[in-house]
Amino acid sequence: MTACCRDKYYTVFDLDHGGFDHLRQERERLYGTPESHFKRHSPSPCEYHDPQRGCILNSHKSPVCLAFLCRRGIDRLRTRFDIYFYDYLGIHYALEWILTGVFSDKDYLALKTSIIEATAKITAA
Ligand code: SF4
Repeated sequence: MTACCRDKYYTVFDLDHGGFDHLRQERERLYGTPESHFKRHSPSPCEYHDPQRGCILNSHKSPVCLAFLCRRGIDRLRTRFDIYFYDYLGIHYALEWILTGVFSDKDYLALKTSIIEATAKITAA
């Protein structure tokens, strides 16, 4: 059994910032603390990884987790849906900047538009 998540990425990459603290508090309020999900023989060190379902977080993921898409996923966006705007690090930083309040309104609108257009392409396919 394998898992994409080879680390507790949210603990490695989350920033020491109030926005991240607030996100973590809401995540734990909705889904419980990481410790409350500990499994002895999980294929992933992340407590939020369920061996049967993958990540149990349907919302409130850290930017590093929310942004991640594997190479096969990115290739699929390109070849099947003609979507080229997605770039893992770009999305990761954009989410961080939104959370820390330094993303400009102009860039936010551009990102939002790209996501809406990409979603429409996938939905229409
Ligand atoms: S929170 Fe979810 S996506 Fe992030 S490392 Fe854990 S299992 Fe993976």
